[in-house]
Amino acid sequence: MSGSACACVPGGYVPNPNGAGCVEEQYTLSEPQDQTRLPDVEPGSSREVAARVTSVQTGQPKQGAVVRFRLDVDLTSGGHDHGETYGRRSRGTISGCVAESGGTPDTYDCTTGADGYTGFTFNAPDASGTHTFTANCISHACSGSKTFNINVKVDGLVPIPADPALYTFIGGEADKKHHDNHYLTDSALSQLVVMAINYHFLYPDEPVLHLNDASLVLGGLFDKDGDWDTPHEKHRRGVVIDIRANTTSATSLKNCLKILSSWLRIQNWLMA
Ligand SMILES: [Zn+2]
Repeated sequence: MSGSACACVPGGYVPNPNGAGCVEEQYTLSEPQDQTRLPDVEPGSSREVAARVTSVQTGQPKQGAVVRFRLDVDLTSGGHDHGETYGRRSRGTISGCVAESGGTPDTYDCTTGADGYTGFTFNAPDASGTHTFTANCISHACSGSKTFNINVKVDGLVPIPADPALYTFIGGEADKKHHDNHYLTDSALSQLVVMAINYHFLYPDEPVLHLNDASLVLGGLFDKDGDWDTPHEKHRRGVVIDIRANTTSATSLKNCLKILSSWLRIQNWLMA
């Protein structure tokens, strides 16, 4: 026989579904779904994130519950093969909640409102990669743990395809901090290929162009020294690449740059 609702203390006890009397109300993290992947966010920008606590017995929202969020990051994600060898990687920050009182790094406590939701703003770092949030409800009679993730990335970057007749790759050797360093936008890639074709046509006996650092696979900060600090300032969005012409003739490279600038002028004229 079930207990009577009027006999239970409101806001803490509910009728016992399995017998007489009341039982303590239990709460749980009901949103987001575990292992949810949130929409991508650009490096250095922010995204709103929400979690919700509800009653296990009634499904009603729970106000005043505290959800503890921990930020983490896949240390080598985004092409940063060096991980934390030369410095600590930023996890990003949360605003709208308070830092955990014990001083645990990258950990924040957020309190639910009347609708059971607590929200925060995730401020993405400049480096691209895969970030993880782990949420735990830490209030009395509240349980549940959810892990969800978000990719910090610049959209639309593509790998430069291998074409040994036109160019060769450098800069990703074993002793370098980033081994996968040749990503561009479609537009920049088209311009690069045209330049390489022209260069090879004009100087068929010279070595092909050597392509050094472009952007990393997800774009964002390119800390060439692997210390999360000293970036290639202009290598974040797939529109810049370092090129070396290993030619014996200084005029070859000069002419090559003239070809490129002419091509850019033509393209800009066509797009105007
Ligand atoms: Zn790096």
